[in-house]
Amino acid sequence: MALTNCRECGGQVSDTAKMCPHCGAPYPYKEEWNGSGYEWRSQAEILGYPLIHIAVGRNKEGKLRIAKGIIAIGQFGIGLITIAQFGIGVIFGFGHFVWSTKIQNPEAVKYFKDMWGQLRSIF
Ligand SMILES: [Zn+2]
Repeated sequence: MALTNCRECGGQVSDTAKMCPHCGAPYPYKEEWNGSGYEWRSQAEILGYPLIHIAVGRNKEGKLRIAKGIIAIGQFGIGLITIAQFGIGVIFGFGHFVWSTKIQNPEAVKYFKDMWGQLRSIF
């Protein structure tokens, strides 16, 4: 373990730190950070939403990537058709905590209620 400087604020950080203790930047020892995970959206759009949006991991601000498309695939997704760990699928949803017109998982409803409060402060 060695000390280096944070890319964002210049403060001293460990070269293994996942987050800067001074400013909260993710992986502060890396010269560049474009987030973790993967994101892809289709060129085709319907009503301004990508036909398919796949989003996994976190963006460079360290926020969760959210799949928002007609077909949304990811850890957290909102779409007409959603395949996600946590998702809202209007027509069809598949995942651990999913709410849709067909599946009304009370756990998911509670989860989203709690999550909404947190999301509003994060996003
Ligand atoms: Zn920093």
